[in-house]
Amino acid sequence: MIGRGLIGSAAARHLATAGHEVLLVGPDEPQNKAGHRGVFGSHYDEGRITRRIAVSPFWTRVSAASIARYDRIATESGIAFFTRCGALLAGPRDHPFILSAGATRQAEALATEELDARALAARFPFFAFGPDHLGYYEADTGHVSPRRLVAAQTEAARRRGAEVVPAVVRGIDETPQGVVLATDQGRYQADAALIAAGAMTDHLSPRPPRMRVYARTASFFEVTPAEAARLADMPSLLFRVTGPSEPYLLPPIRYPDGRLWLKLGGDPVDVVLETPEAIGDWFRSGGNPDVRDFQEAMLRRLMPDLAIESVGMTACVTMFTAIGNPVIDRVSDRIAVATGGNGQGAKCSDELGRLGAQVVAGGPVPKDTCFIEGELT
Ligand SMILES: Cc1cc2nc3c(=O)[nH]c(=O)nc-3n(C[C@H](O)[C@H](O)[C@H](O)COP(=O)(O)OP(=O)(O)OC[C@H]3O[C@@H](n4cnc5c(N)ncnc54)[C@H](O)[C@@H]3O)c2cc1C
Repeated sequence: MIGRGLIGSAAARHLATAGHEVLLVGPDEPQNKAGHRGVFGSHYDEGRITRRIAVSPFWTRVSAASIARYDRIATESGIAFFTRCGALLAGPRDHPFILSAGATRQAEALATEELDARALAARFPFFAFGPDHLGYYEADTGHVSPRRLVAAQTEAARRRGAEVVPAVVRGIDETPQGVVLATDQGRYQADAALIAAGAMTDHLSPRPPRMRVYARTASFFEVTPAEAARLADMPSLLFRVTGPSEPYLLPPIRYPDGRLWLKLGGDPVDVVLETPEAIGDWFRSGGNPDVRDFQEAMLRRLMPDLAIESVGMTACVTMFTAIGNPVIDRVSDRIAVATGGNGQGAKCSDELGRLGAQVVAGGPVPKDTCFIEGELT
């Protein structure tokens, strides 16, 4: 397993559980991001929205399969990572996002409540939605800590016998006997390799899935414990407004600094990062202050009564594929990839990892996740 992020650590757990001898190779989170010269990951945070309702059945199914295993992963590892606060999708009732989510909800028979503007205002009085807004609320979902989920998957894999090496892979050689990984901590030999290196996958894989890697800024808004208590019923939220951004918001979460932060994401412009250097420079930058200001204005419109103590931001990246689904496919006889969260790969990473494990172990490639040739359009 190359990459100890959300998908890679999940795949390692599934492979180890199936009885394979597993080597999970990937570095720890860098402690000083601004000065870090190595690779980065997209899971250095405490909040990722988790929900089944989605704009396509593929995402609903992989999310549902993953959510159903959260308790088992927590039990197997002894590491809790899921907060059941509910998830809400809301927007103008004729917005394509709401229409698609409504269609998936119906097709997949999802247990969600439909809330009109009046019901939204009664249930979630801290949000200022418009009179034409419609919401879908899923009570038994919420958010996961991606850091803790990676830790849980890694620990569960380790307990099943996986060896974990905190190294960076520099190159992969395929021979008739197997694959040889050249890393910054020596060489390792394996029968087969699954690459789940997030934004770096294109730059490692002999056959790159040619993802589009976008720079993302997420803003943090600190609240007091009293303000967090007032927001005790706040769900994770995806919402739509007029304009280019696709915003999402997490309720107050206690971060490692001991403080309570809401997080809002959704960039007004997509900036593509073409090279490993550009990806590294972006992470080291810590985010775009213009996007942070845009996001603060958006939050103040959505939650006009919110008492914000301080504002922060972070830089992250999302990886989009040409097929709109993750690419989980074979690259060669002995190498496969599992990558492309399309901005929503955390909640469902356990199932994406399971599918990657299936492919690298010689099983079938899921039909919705094959490579397609050519560039993203
Ligand atoms: C700001 C933001 C908000 C998001 N919000 C949500 C959300 O609310 N809900 C949701 O479901 N998803 C969300 N996502 C998406 C989700 O975080 C990603 O889809 C997910 O992290 C992808 O998992 P991954 O395993 O492909 O990549 P990562 O989690 O990035 O893991 C890749 C790993 O590969 C390692 N690696 C890279 N190069 C090498 C190498 N050469 N050798 C060894 N290891 C290597 C890295 O160190 C990293 O640990 C969000 C993403 C961002 C950026």
